Order: sequence, then structure tokens, then C-alpha cells
Amino acid sequence: MSNVTVCARFRPLSSKEKRDHGENICIRSLDSETFVLKDEKEEEFTFSFDRVFYEGSEQADVYKFLAFPIVQDACNAINGTIITYGQTGAGKTYSMEGTSILDCHEQNKGLLPRVVDGLFHCLESADNTTKYTVNLSMVEIYMEKIRDLLDLSKDNLQIKEGKVKGIFLSGATEVSISDRTEALRHLSSGIANRAVGETQMNMASSRSHCAYIFTVQQEEKNERRVKMGKLILVDLAGSEKAERSGAEGRVLEEAKTINKSLSALGNVINALTNGSPGKTNHIPYRDSKLTRILQDALGGNSRTALLCCCSPSTSNASESLSSLRFGARHALN
Ligand code: ADP
Ligand code: MG
Repeated sequence: MSNVTVCARFRPLSSKEKRDHGENICIRSLDSETFVLKDEKEEEFTFSFDRVFYEGSEQADVYKFLAFPIVQDACNAINGTIITYGQTGAGKTYSMEGTSILDCHEQNKGLLPRVVDGLFHCLESADNTTKYTVNLSMVEIYMEKIRDLLDLSKDNLQIKEGKVKGIFLSGATEVSISDRTEALRHLSSGIANRAVGETQMNMASSRSHCAYIFTVQQEEKNERRVKMGKLILVDLAGSEKAERSGAEGRVLEEAKTINKSLSALGNVINALTNGSPGKTNHIPYRDSKLTRILQDALGGNSRTALLCCCSPSTSNASESLSSLRFGARHALN
């Protein structure tokens, strides 16, 4: 069985799409794993994923299918990564955070607050010979520079590798979280910091990757051994092809950098899903900051979930097609 799960999610049509392009939907569902996409030229493409979440899918179902097993693993010292991919406006942040990180309505809650619930649920049900500690770091990668979202004065973090710790961000703020409320408070301040930084640097959050890094440390009281599980959630930069639309200057540089890191990510996942068992094939982690940060949470025995977020509108069919192709080459292995 592959350690990579790939799902697609379609949000409902937006009011702008309805106003500008009518109610033309480019997908036709066949079942919970398969659908047909029809592009503007009426050409049809059939896609299969581990699971497809159609319009009206519940945030809870996305969590259950995609994230729950990875959260369980993190509590058992197995690393994991959960990634949202797609063009800007496709539903990445909605899937990750929900309508807002502090909105705790069951219907709206995204993956992050549910991951927090899941982690603390595991911890609370552990027997009392195990002591757990959960830490959180939050960083943003923009133009291959890593910024600490829990302390904006640290705007150029370096990636290091330690014998015990594995991959880590040198000097990054790591807050210890002891309950759900505290976790949400830190997440929310990191998200607010991201907005502050955007205004300062005059850039859009859709042009940077955001990584939420949870580490779950597990100490057995009788043994003197400490085990660690790392769980990284990544809300990727928009995958839209800005180069085609005649972008120039910084916008073009941004687009190229994003493209490069997204294709590095694709290559890494590809190498992981298509590698022959028993053989150590080369996995190009070093091709981008993103894949380097994810190195020990993506590969080995760790689990990966990729959610390809798409608009269902025919007007966005070509972007949806390219997002689905990105995911499909890793799906159902
Ligand atoms: P992205 O992060 O990919 O740029 P967003 O998550 O911000 O996109 O989504 C764009 C808009 O669509 C937001 O207003 C969001 O609330 C809405 N939206 C996205 N996905 C869904 C969904 N599954 N159900 C309802 N609304 C959604
Ligand atoms: Mg977003």
C-alpha cells in the first residue's frame, strides 16, 4: 500500500462565477472516486482519486478520510504531511483553516482545528505512563525565503539537519501547546502575523506557502526513551499559471519561484510513489525549501495526504485540469 493518499475537492460555484459565467459546471461525478471533467473545448477527461469530495462535502468527512489516520500516526511517532494544492480561490485555505481558525462551528471547521482536536484526543486517552508534549511552529515560504510567523523579526530561517531531531528550522519559534484553546490562540496569531507581513511586503498570501509544523513528543516514564512524531500541514501558494497571462517583473519572478517549488514537490511525491520497493532511488528533496522542510515528513514510513482543491466552473476548467493532473499522477498507486 502506498503511503500517499490523494483526494480532489470541488467547492460550490462562487457568486462571481455564477454572475460572470453562469452555472456551467465542468465536472460530472461517476462515483466517490471517479469523475469526468469537460474543458472549454468540450474535451472529456476521466480522473480517479482515492476519494473525491464534491460540492457540499462536509469538512468533517475531509478530515476523517484524509487527516485522521495521519494524526493517529503522529501520536505514535510516525511523521506525516497534509497538503492543500490548487489555484487561488479553489478552497485550500477553507479546507485548511475553515471559514476562520477561531470559528468553531462544526460545519465550518477546517483541517487545522480538527487536527488539534485529534491530537489532544489522542493525548488525553493515553495511559499515564506516557507523557506527551506538543509543540507548534509556523512558517511562510516566499521567494525561497522562510519567515517565522510566530515572530516576524525572524525573516530568513535556515534549514538544518540534526542526528536526533532530523530536519529542523534553526532558531524558529516553537511554542509548547498544552490544550486546544492555547493551540488555536497561537495558530490565530500566526495567521494574523501572516497578514501583517503581507501588507509590509506588499504581497498576497496566495503567492506564498504556509507550513504549520506540529511535533508530538512522547516520553515513556519507565524507559528513558523519547519518541517524536512530526505532523506538517501545508497550505500551498496558488498553482495558477501566471506566466501565461503576460506577467512581468516581480509577479513573474514570484510565479517562476512558485512553479519551481510546486514541481519540486510533484517530483518528490512522484519519486516516493513510483520508487521500486527495496531500492533507494534518488528523491530530489533539495530542489526547493518546501521539499527540504518536508523531507522527513514526506517519505520513509511517513504518510502523506494531498488535497487537490478545484473550482467546478467551466470558466476555470483549464486550471482545474492542471491541478487534477498534478494530483492524479500520484493517486491510486
Ligand atoms: P484558496 O485558499 O485556495 O485561495 P479559499 O479557501 O480562500 O481559496 O476559498 C475561496 C472562497 O471560496 C472563500 O470565500 C471560501 O470560503 C469559499 N470556499 C472554498 N471552499 C469552499 C467549500 N468547500 N464550501 C464553501 N465555500 C468554500
Ligand atoms: Mg488561501
